[in-house]
Amino acid sequence: MSTERTDRTDAPVASNFIRNVIDEDNRNRKWAGRVETRFPPEPNGYLHVGHAKSICLNFGVARDYDGVCHLRFDDTNPEKESMEYADSIIEAVTWLGYSWEKSGQSHLYFASDYYEQLYHFAEILIERGKAYVDSQSADEMRANRGSLTEPGRPSPYRDRTPAENLDLFRRMRAGEFAEGEHVLRAKIDMASPNFNMRDPVIYRIRFAHHYRTGDTWCVYPMYDYAHCISDAIEGITHSLCTLEFEDHRPLYDWVLDQLAQAGHFKRPLPQQIEFARLNVTYAITSKRKLLQLVTEKHVEGWDDPRMPTIVGLRRRGFTPGSIQLFCDRIGVSKADSWIDMGVLEQSLRDDLDAVAPRAIAVLDPLKLIIDNFPDDAEEACTAPVHPHHPERGSRAFPLTRELWIEREDFNEHPPKGYFRLFPGNKVRLRYGFVVECTGFDKDEHGKVTAVHCNYFADSKSGTEGSNNYKVKGNIHWVSAKHAYAAEVRVYDRLFNEPQPDAGGRDFLTALNPNSKRVAQAYLEPGAAQMNAEDRVQFERHGYFVADRYDSQPGKPVFNRIVSLKDSWGR
Ligand code: ATP
Ligand code: MG
Repeated sequence: MSTERTDRTDAPVASNFIRNVIDEDNRNRKWAGRVETRFPPEPNGYLHVGHAKSICLNFGVARDYDGVCHLRFDDTNPEKESMEYADSIIEAVTWLGYSWEKSGQSHLYFASDYYEQLYHFAEILIERGKAYVDSQSADEMRANRGSLTEPGRPSPYRDRTPAENLDLFRRMRAGEFAEGEHVLRAKIDMASPNFNMRDPVIYRIRFAHHYRTGDTWCVYPMYDYAHCISDAIEGITHSLCTLEFEDHRPLYDWVLDQLAQAGHFKRPLPQQIEFARLNVTYAITSKRKLLQLVTEKHVEGWDDPRMPTIVGLRRRGFTPGSIQLFCDRIGVSKADSWIDMGVLEQSLRDDLDAVAPRAIAVLDPLKLIIDNFPDDAEEACTAPVHPHHPERGSRAFPLTRELWIEREDFNEHPPKGYFRLFPGNKVRLRYGFVVECTGFDKDEHGKVTAVHCNYFADSKSGTEGSNNYKVKGNIHWVSAKHAYAAEVRVYDRLFNEPQPDAGGRDFLTALNPNSKRVAQAYLEPGAAQMNAEDRVQFERHGYFVADRYDSQPGKPVFNRIVSLKDSWGR
């Protein structure tokens, strides 16, 4: 059994305001038809479902306009970054189905490769009187920043000459000063209503080891300075980012405009466009909080199947196609909102329904004994691999005297409307015979240990005689003799509150204590041969995947991806 890799690249994509901007630029020949986007993660953690939205948007736009999307590591914070994180990001983007290659050229970049250029441009700003070394303490800078109603106060160092600034900045780079002794600030407007324009810091001193540049540098550029220049160096046309950067845009434009005036970048300059970030209910998308779940062991790692990280979604069993479909469905807008987790889960169902093979699994086994079935007889039964694709053939599994059925399919005291097994009632064993319940066994605690029945030899599914039996219940089963024992990890949502961290609440109090249940299940024989990451629909139970790491042919371990129907409803 195997699952075909699903691929959604042919799905029609709804237009959105970003595509409208690109269409307009193309009409005006602004970029001569060129579309270059970038996905710029900081390698300080694992990517999550929110990043998937940005990836699908950036790479999707590039694909649809025959452009290219760069993968750029925005690695200008030496303390928190690592190659382990960078590698995991490369793997996640690749798994999602995207590539940063075009015409044989790779567009994988690191902002840390631009350190020399970024430094050089800072000297140019200094020479042109557009940046200065400030020697105020952090507290003084804060105190002089002003407020919403009050302009900021200029630093007493604001009027240093370019020569003085250049000398200090070079000595900052040379390591002559301690952290915090000086910073380099852009000289813009201390009275601007936009705080980001009140002479923002663009370089600070950090004696920190960087995972790529080692100890070469002790001055590091700030995000707002490094990001726009990285975009311009790479020739990005449309720089798509989340809404919180909206009031950083004037600074983005200011830096590039200064360098263009100095003759370093040709116009048009890259354009920053903001979109709403993705929030998914019953999940957390803050890297810091995800890290806390891992370090405090509330989950079993970054790739715990309950984590909204891409490695977690992958291990849970989500397909790249289902995540692309989800991103297409939620679209792109300018207004922040919450998307229901059910939308993500439904995308998985819709992606897998047409392709996942079917199989039977009994997750909470109870013995059913057919007393009038000969001891060593076997009756071959068959079922379609996929109900809507007869060309995919059928699966075979034998029916024997002793079977495993779901415990919930028997009820000693059936409530009204219960059509499954109870003494005196008839049900059909799916793909097999009609049986009539004759009794049951109990242990000394009153727990039902086995159910007894008789079968009707002329009632087999698919034969003439089967029409003579009208029963309301249809239950699934596996032969006790031929079934494969398997571990099945039944996952549910990690939180039982739609907005676990709303209103400053401690999100740990919203953890769902029942988010993982391990069942010792029995599977129909063929399911034992599934390979890691093969997906299947266990009839009645939902979609499952053979665990990426723990499952082996002959010794399968399955994760439940989602149930067949949304039980969380709203
Ligand atoms: P940090 O707080 O570490 O900056 P971050 O989530 O912003 O965390 P980045 O690595 O900077 O992480 O993100 C890379 C890109 O992904 C950015 O362009 C960012 O805007 C985008 N992104 C991050 N979170 C979301 C989200 N929830 N929805 C959509 N895009 C997101
Ligand atoms: Mg960020």
